[in-house]
Amino acid sequence: MPVPGCMAMISGRDAHDGRDAALSILDRLPVGVCVVAASGIIHHANPALHTLLACEPGGLPGRSLCEFGLDTCDGGGLAADPARAHRALRNDGTVRRVTVAEAPWTSLPSGAKAEGGAESLRLVTVTDVDAVYRQAMLADEAASQAAGPAAGTLLDYGGNVRYEAPVLVAEGATRFPAKGTFRDESGIAGVSRELDALHPNEERLEAILEQSPIGVSVSRRDDGCIIFVNTRFAELIGLPREKLIGSRARDYYLDSHQRLRVLERLRGGGGVTNMEVQFRRADGSPFWTLFTVNQAVIQGTAVNLAWIYDYTERRSMEEALRDMASRDPLTGIFNRRSFMDMARAQLARAHRFHEPLSVFVLDVDHFKRINDSFGHATGDDALRMVAAGCQAILREYDILGRLGGEEFVVVLPGATADESRVVAERVRRHLARMPIEAPDGTFRLTVSIGIAGLEGATDTLERAIHRADLALYRAKHLGRNLVAVFETGM
Ligand code: GH3
Ligand code: MG
Ligand code: MG
Repeated sequence: MPVPGCMAMISGRDAHDGRDAALSILDRLPVGVCVVAASGIIHHANPALHTLLACEPGGLPGRSLCEFGLDTCDGGGLAADPARAHRALRNDGTVRRVTVAEAPWTSLPSGAKAEGGAESLRLVTVTDVDAVYRQAMLADEAASQAAGPAAGTLLDYGGNVRYEAPVLVAEGATRFPAKGTFRDESGIAGVSRELDALHPNEERLEAILEQSPIGVSVSRRDDGCIIFVNTRFAELIGLPREKLIGSRARDYYLDSHQRLRVLERLRGGGGVTNMEVQFRRADGSPFWTLFTVNQAVIQGTAVNLAWIYDYTERRSMEEALRDMASRDPLTGIFNRRSFMDMARAQLARAHRFHEPLSVFVLDVDHFKRINDSFGHATGDDALRMVAAGCQAILREYDILGRLGGEEFVVVLPGATADESRVVAERVRRHLARMPIEAPDGTFRLTVSIGIAGLEGATDTLERAIHRADLALYRAKHLGRNLVAVFETGM
């Protein structure tokens, strides 16, 4: 590349002159060259590039290399594989094979506004290799036909097929190039590229595993003995690698049922993908993982290849979210939807086992006055106190929910309406005695409660709540601070 030399030559002269001199040298180059921002926008392009991309003189600045299929547009550029031929999509719709190379452009061309500083500009060289490419295609055509399947696929479906195949070279040795066949305007074409440098070997694989953010372990299938772990695996378990190698995979499971489920799948010949499994660290603390195990044979040994992804934080976040979705934010008790879900399950159970169940609906008396007298914030405090007060009296398996506003609902599995009346009375008395803090002193409130028991095998939760509501209405009507049980005719 002659450009760095030019830079040295013009250094020390007036900066503008220097830049213009550099650009005028670029303009005389026989290969396509342009100065491009990180975004792929072309600031300057020489005449050869205009010709190569079939553009009018001066038509390239301001356009993006991406439009011509020549940049990845993520700032990464194309230079990672300078030996590869790219398809340049020319302005006139035709395609030309080119190779692309790039280097940082440290001298700002005149008039160019750098995005993110001058350092982000790149000098991109685009070389026309179309003629060479076509010769290579012809030479390789026989080989690609011999390669059979790839060429066949290509003929049937078109496009671009990449495969690896050993090739006999002149010295009688076998080399291992990558071969690609392409369907082109001109028919089928093939390209070979030396693969040896890319061919995976054990060392490289190990380096890749080492850098993996996921814990990896390899254990023998016959005795469960761990024979390889990467650094992340050792970190997750909290033991040095030397201690892990030779130990048994089974020692790290927390829950034997989970372990048996994994083993069952493996015995069936399959694998496990992203199963939620809990493991134990060396200090005994548990952690959740997404666990994947595949069976493989490595150097003649049947092994389990396990990948563990630490899932603890995500899982507790998910749990918190699930909890948030099912709780009433003000009081922390179940919201209407999750109350209804759980109560319905209890009702189905009561029907199945012919057990009693009852519902009560509780409404704070003259709650509007509380808001009016002490303010909405105190009203909120009162609602929290009512919820906590109910919970203090109810049994563990009773379900308490907030129906909305100052109205609460309880399902009492196993309790008849009469048994519920006793509980409801206790709740009513407890709440009536409970002092609630207000800005200037404390106050007390009262509640009214309506009760309904399950009626018959086809009764529904909605109907039971409706009957409890009618009973509540009666309690309000009779003067409040009362418990009423539903009776027909209410
Ligand atoms: P009654 O004895 O007949 O039940 O009278 P009430 O005043 O309790 O009944 P009403 O249904 O007329 O009023 C309920 C009030 O509850 C009206 C509303 O502003 C208030 N409220 C509803 N939700 C909330 C809440 O989340 N916080 C507070 N502070 N007030 C609420
Ligand atoms: Mg009320
Ligand atoms: Mg109300």
